[in-house]
Amino acid sequence: MDTSQEMPGLSEETLDPLDWADVRTLSHRIIDDAVGYLRDVRERPVWQEMPAAVRASFTAPLPRSPSPLADVYGEVAATVMPYPMGNTHPRFWSWYMGSSNFTGALGDFLAAIQGSNLGGGNHAAALVDGQVVDWCKEMLGFPASASGTLVSGGSMANIIGLTVARNTKAGIDLREHGVGAMEKPLRFYGSDQLHSCHRKAMEALGLGNRALRRIPTDAGLRIDIEALRAAISEDRAAGFMPACVIGTAGTVNTGAIDDLQALAKLAHEEDLWFHVDGCIGALIAIAPRNAHRVAGIEWADSVALDPHKWLHAPFEVGCALVRDAAAHRKTFAVTPEYLESTPRGLASGEWLHDYGLQTTRGFRALKVWMALKQHGVEKFGRLIDQNIAQGQYLARLIEDAPLLELVAPPAINIVCFRFRPGGMAPGGMTGEALKRLNTEIMLRLQEQGIAALSDTTVHGEHCLRVAINNHRTRREDLDLLVRETQRLGREMGAIGGASF
Ligand SMILES: *Cc1c(COP(=O)(O)O)cnc(C)c1O
Repeated sequence: MDTSQEMPGLSEETLDPLDWADVRTLSHRIIDDAVGYLRDVRERPVWQEMPAAVRASFTAPLPRSPSPLADVYGEVAATVMPYPMGNTHPRFWSWYMGSSNFTGALGDFLAAIQGSNLGGGNHAAALVDGQVVDWCKEMLGFPASASGTLVSGGSMANIIGLTVARNTKAGIDLREHGVGAMEKPLRFYGSDQLHSCHRKAMEALGLGNRALRRIPTDAGLRIDIEALRAAISEDRAAGFMPACVIGTAGTVNTGAIDDLQALAKLAHEEDLWFHVDGCIGALIAIAPRNAHRVAGIEWADSVALDPHKWLHAPFEVGCALVRDAAAHRKTFAVTPEYLESTPRGLASGEWLHDYGLQTTRGFRALKVWMALKQHGVEKFGRLIDQNIAQGQYLARLIEDAPLLELVAPPAINIVCFRFRPGGMAPGGMTGEALKRLNTEIMLRLQEQGIAALSDTTVHGEHCLRVAINNHRTRREDLDLLVRETQRLGREMGAIGGASF
């Protein structure tokens, strides 16, 4: 009997394919292409400009009628995959990003297939999420009693830590009454090398940018502890409430690591919350040759770290750790009636959304969990040591190159340098001319697909910046960078009539 005529419910629609066999065939092709894509990444340019037609394809209107999945994938393969940001390439050293890994990509795929919501509950993904947080504690030497949460990245992880700091130090029930009810305005402290996400955090927390004092740094661009101490007593005298000091383990400009032990001691003496922005450097704690550089991080009240940087997890995943789990929960936990736990069953697990701002949370733990299981933590530690050694290697190459100069000695894996034909151009070039020349070198390195660097200003000097956070980089890539930078600089000098 054909009931579909009488019961239209039986022909309801779904997003599932009519024919799973077709999807399987196409998916196998996609996986084959993906393996080839990463295997051959070294052969492709690190970056290339998109042709106008590709660019225009992204302005097409909302699709109203269906297209076969194979066609949709064909479009992705033609218009998206050839034009990446480039951070999976061995010669991508811009800003500060991890270089991803295939296992992590499989983790993201399987997480999406399983579809679990990490807002909490009693299911395996929630245990994996908790285990990855526990592993982060273990990597940093945090006590097992600490709490933590996986978030989108370091910026959010810092916001989590700073929010707990604010609420704990406010002196009132801040959640109930808000910042306007505080008796004294809070003050936070960090160095003048602090990442810009802290400014956004202060703004979002309702404290305002001026509540974050930037303390001068020493010659190594580390926070000046005496200047910090002076600022704190000045603020106390002026009626402010010093609340939190933010130490940076690896600044974004040069990789400088604040003296975390001294900061921990000072925070203890001054009764401040001690937060560490360890987005770059917290994970150095697992690197056998360099772990000593972040000694003291285990004393922090909260730490932000970034598995999508030095664990090379595909974006996005950051992690906030908080020593006092009760303070952490107290800052975020809200249990509306529709999210009450039950004694048994699916809702009997812990609500993970009680540790942050999101309700629905993705299964971002799986990509980290799988890669750590596959390689073991020691491999990741060695890769961090390797990048730091590569930073030293590049610094030596630059020192030996007649047309290049180091602008700051690398603290870890970030190298700041510039093309400077001083010796051969009598009188030298002005700062502005040098900046133009170096910016042009940087752009040509990108446009010719050779290498992606970024630039910054250190000690008032404009420079090119190489951040080697990349498990694919080899020393020969750094040799090539030094050769090509000098070639481009010479070519431009010749065009400009100079001879170097
Ligand atoms: C990258 C970085 C951040 C921000 O982390 P995201 O993962 O990009 O949000 C914060 N602080 C420092 C020192 C960083 O290097």
